[in-house]
Amino acid sequence: MIKLENITKTYDGKAQVHALKGVNLTIEDGEIFGIIGKSGAGKSTLVRCINMLERPTSGNVIIDEKNLTNMTDAQLRAERKHIGMIFQHFNLLSSRTVFDNIAFPLELIGASKEAIQKKVADLLELVGLTDRQFNYPAQLSGGQKQRVGIARALASDPNILLCDEATSALDPQTTKSILELLKDINQRLGITIVIITHEMAVIKEICNRVAVIEGGVIKEAGRVVDVFTNP
Ligand code: ADP
Ligand code: ADP
Repeated sequence: MIKLENITKTYDGKAQVHALKGVNLTIEDGEIFGIIGKSGAGKSTLVRCINMLERPTSGNVIIDEKNLTNMTDAQLRAERKHIGMIFQHFNLLSSRTVFDNIAFPLELIGASKEAIQKKVADLLELVGLTDRQFNYPAQLSGGQKQRVGIARALASDPNILLCDEATSALDPQTTKSILELLKDINQRLGITIVIITHEMAVIKEICNRVAVIEGGVIKEAGRVVDVFTNP
């Protein structure tokens, strides 16, 4: 379970920006949870607080009963292995093949060559890119690049996958195929998925519950059918 308790985030600068102003949110295990809001609403800040790439100014981030806000940077690095993340622009390493991109996080944790072979082969099959494993990112379509991003995010066997505008650079048909893959991963592996987006269609397609964020505040949260039913 992901529990955000009264999270605030203020960026200091010439003028302070109050990006999050007291966010409370509970995301259950195995859910596909959406966070929707316009540009500047605080979505990216919120997702970066969940994996503590950004430390909240105040409040608690509690994941599986562990309070991440009290942890040292070293402890956080260990916790982040349980939290995968995918991005709008995929963030692949252009000088590495598909195989080597997916292998990268496994190399970082010092996995054996055999373990890496087996794990990457399984992930390639899961995302349908076995026949592209020796290609470089530049040789792939947008949808295929995001499949590599997903496989890489799953390499460390996370139980949470954070998706930050993960389909925003893709056309509608490719978006649909990526959302199908995420649904499949949620169902087959039981991974909790958090979808950050500005697109209502994405939320309606895939999420069980949704929170609407505006000006750093959660305006509404609940089941998608309840929040977005037209009167
Ligand atoms: P969204 O992802 O919904 O577009 P963000 O979380 O990126 O929203 O931004 C929320 C607010 O915080 C915006 O006003 C943005 O300009 C500001 N902001 C985001 N990151 C920083 C930063 N590193 N330094 C200063 N202000 C920031
Ligand atoms: P794009 O539309 O950008 O080419 P897609 O994400 O739609 O990318 O699909 C990438 C490739 O993977 C396509 O060739 C597609 O047929 C194939 N593909 C999609 N889903 C699966 C799957 N679950 N298993 C195997 N192959 C798949």
